[in-house]
Amino acid sequence: MDINKVFENNKTWIQNKLEESENYFEELGKGQNPDLLYIGCSDSRVAAEDLMGAQPGEVFVHRNIANMVISIDLNVMSVVNYAVDHLKVNHIVVCGHYACGGVKAAMQSADLGILNPWLRNIRDVYRIHKEELNAITDEDKKYNRLVELNVKEQCVNLIKTAAVQRAYRDRGLKVHGWVFDVHTGKLIDLKIDFIKYLKNIMEIYHLD
Ligand SMILES: [Zn+2]
Repeated sequence: MDINKVFENNKTWIQNKLEESENYFEELGKGQNPDLLYIGCSDSRVAAEDLMGAQPGEVFVHRNIANMVISIDLNVMSVVNYAVDHLKVNHIVVCGHYACGGVKAAMQSADLGILNPWLRNIRDVYRIHKEELNAITDEDKKYNRLVELNVKEQCVNLIKTAAVQRAYRDRGLKVHGWVFDVHTGKLIDLKIDFIKYLKNIMEIYHLD
């Protein structure tokens, strides 16, 4: 991408949108009503809206390194609360991806400075699933599996929040875990049993 072409590209994009509908930007300016909160990785290859075929206004998006949902991260928690309590989304997706640099870094022992506390949360996922992961001898398979388990654990972290629990009770909000395969372009639904996890963890994490 040539940074000098950005504004030129923008003009073409506006033209294309206006060809679709001459009121396109009038409508866009009226507000947003997304039904989905997408939490994904910052990786430049994972083009959130593109890969879902979503249009502007349809998806509320949060991205960080390795699609983490960390309870003391004011950023992700503000996004979750705003999307659930104010935008009233009915679905939250945590979307990981194979070949994730963040997950890879967490599997290695290099000291990455400021990134250490962030990656430690992925190492915690490894620790929770150590037995399963250590039994996988193929490094690539182990790496892929950690990507999937990380998505699962971040879904669990969402279920621990009061906003998600309340929205589930009030309107049946659902949490989904997906993985994007950068090698094929395929989006994979991990079919996370949201209700089962909810029941399992409520004993300890229930909030009114
Ligand atoms: Zn990534």
